[in-house]
Amino acid sequence: TIYNFGSINLDHLYQVDHFVRPGETMASKSYQCLLGGKGANQSVALAKAGAEVKHVGAIHHSDQAVLDQLSALGVDTKLIATIDVPTGHAIIQLNAEAENAIILFQGANHALTSEQVDDVLAQANAGDWVLLQNETNQIEYTMKQAQAHGLKVAFNPAPMDAELTKKVLSSVDLLIVNEVEAMDLLGVCDIETASQTLPTAYPDLSVLMTLGKAGVRYFPKQEAGQQMESLFVEAFSVEAVDTTAAGDTFIGYCLSSLMNNEDMTVALKRACAASALCVTKMGAASAIPSSADVTEFLAK
Ligand code: ADP
Repeated sequence: TIYNFGSINLDHLYQVDHFVRPGETMASKSYQCLLGGKGANQSVALAKAGAEVKHVGAIHHSDQAVLDQLSALGVDTKLIATIDVPTGHAIIQLNAEAENAIILFQGANHALTSEQVDDVLAQANAGDWVLLQNETNQIEYTMKQAQAHGLKVAFNPAPMDAELTKKVLSSVDLLIVNEVEAMDLLGVCDIETASQTLPTAYPDLSVLMTLGKAGVRYFPKQEAGQQMESLFVEAFSVEAVDTTAAGDTFIGYCLSSLMNNEDMTVALKRACAASALCVTKMGAASAIPSSADVTEFLAK
């Protein structure tokens, strides 16, 4: 089982000619409300990949539909608290140039209590995984407790907070970052330096660095007296139309394979295939491919 302590957002998407200006009131050309949040996206990817995923988080009690949507996609929602705080949401303006301007309200995503964390971890078994991103609260506490329970901790520090991330790394087994996050974490400004510095900076944990359309690098934890080789897996060449949730899809599929004790090379290849399929579709959760589609894509 994987316990994903993650954000759940409602993305309110408004198509506009230009971003609304000070004092202006403007009608939107279209409106869509979509399920989002890195946490929810990663839970959906895990579920679609076939993992047993329990999402831990909170939403407003009037948003039962969100739970129904997640359940329908295969995510266990029993550990999502329904509370009297608005569900996290984003107000997204999308202009004619396909640029966006976003207001984010964290809301219920930051309402997790330490008691809730304790209750969840009390039911986990040794060998289970805990997954976190950086869109919820209680991160440090959750990791410490998870480690004390003998659980494996995967951390995707997005959006990056370098100070928090460095503070919690001693509780992390697997760190997953994209290029920008890697550079921010290391305080360097080019990708080449970041990928050279990462493995030596954190030898006590395994690190996955996703490289967008280039693929992914894996730097395994260095065991005493053993030189563990890093891996590189190339991305699949596809026509990308929207890269939203590529990283989330990658993480869900990769962790699902690892939970099945698959080889890292196999896990990375499958995750690259899943995220390549994701970028060929518009949207977030809805763009995450099914396991059958990934298998078919890999067989081509
Ligand atoms: P994030 O979405 O977090 O920024 P990346 O951009 O690194 O993460 O993408 C994650 C993974 O998605 C990559 O490792 C790659 O396998 C896949 N991917 C991303 N963009 C493309 C693309 N244009 N073509 C094919 N695969 C892609």
